[in-house]
Amino acid sequence: MDQAASVRPDPSTATLPEDVSPLVRMRHLCKWFGEHEVLRDISLDVDSGEVLAIVGPSGSGKSTLLRCINLLEEPSAGSLNVGELTVEFDHPVKRRERKALRQQLGMVFQSFNLFPHMTVLENICLPQRRVLGRKRDEAEAVAKDLLEKVGLTDKAAAFPSNCSGGQQQRIAIARALALDPRVMLFDEPTSALDPELGLEVLSVMFSLAQSGMTMIVVTHEMSFAEKVSDRTLFMAEGKIVEAGPSADVIRRPQSERARRFFRAVN
Ligand code: ADP
Ligand code: MG
Repeated sequence: MDQAASVRPDPSTATLPEDVSPLVRMRHLCKWFGEHEVLRDISLDVDSGEVLAIVGPSGSGKSTLLRCINLLEEPSAGSLNVGELTVEFDHPVKRRERKALRQQLGMVFQSFNLFPHMTVLENICLPQRRVLGRKRDEAEAVAKDLLEKVGLTDKAAAFPSNCSGGQQQRIAIARALALDPRVMLFDEPTSALDPELGLEVLSVMFSLAQSGMTMIVVTHEMSFAEKVSDRTLFMAEGKIVEAGPSADVIRRPQSERARRFFRAVN
């Protein structure tokens, strides 16, 4: 590809063309913590089946952006669509809006947050019974199927404390998937793990991506971003600085800010 062809017209545009109707659409999202503007006018689309990686320096607002999508943080302004649901942040979010939104989203955190006093199987069954009202048998069948998918069939009766960090994170992924989300959100899912255990989690995420799941992944794993995600978004100081096909953003960043970041992490 020659130099001119590789120049993206507007590298900070994270929205899709008008004829695409995305699964997640964010418009002019802002988040203030007191006087501190942490997200500045973020507009972003994620298409169904797409894997979006979000990268950037610490403190740039990546976690806040994810947390705003499932309303763990309430945005200060802007709007958010997930599927058919629209939430405008010109009024406090209503309980029914929060519930309807969260039903479509699964989230996996850096710390796995499993219930320590329950077995692995119970960890995956409980949310299904509470949130979806599934009967015990059905919840167990779903849980066993997912444990097989994440390669942990033999851990069903174990307690989290008897599982490695990588296993616990795979269980957390299975637990989120058990609620049939349309979109999975990951906030640095491998940052707390040794590289080897991180790899087994990345491999589960890779299979999930292959299966067509829509995923938004905050990560420091540039090779994962480059190989698995369709698009990468580089954030700094609460703004989208660059967005585009992952290889372009990671290999050929256009701004000095992004170049500096990728030089340091690669
Ligand atoms: P990242 O995930 O990119 O490291 P964060 O979204 O965690 O960044 O944080 C972005 C900025 O918002 C940071 O300056 C952080 O200190 C601030 N921040 C995050 N959460 C809160 C909060 N609950 N209250 C006040 N400030 C916060
Ligand atoms: Mg973070």
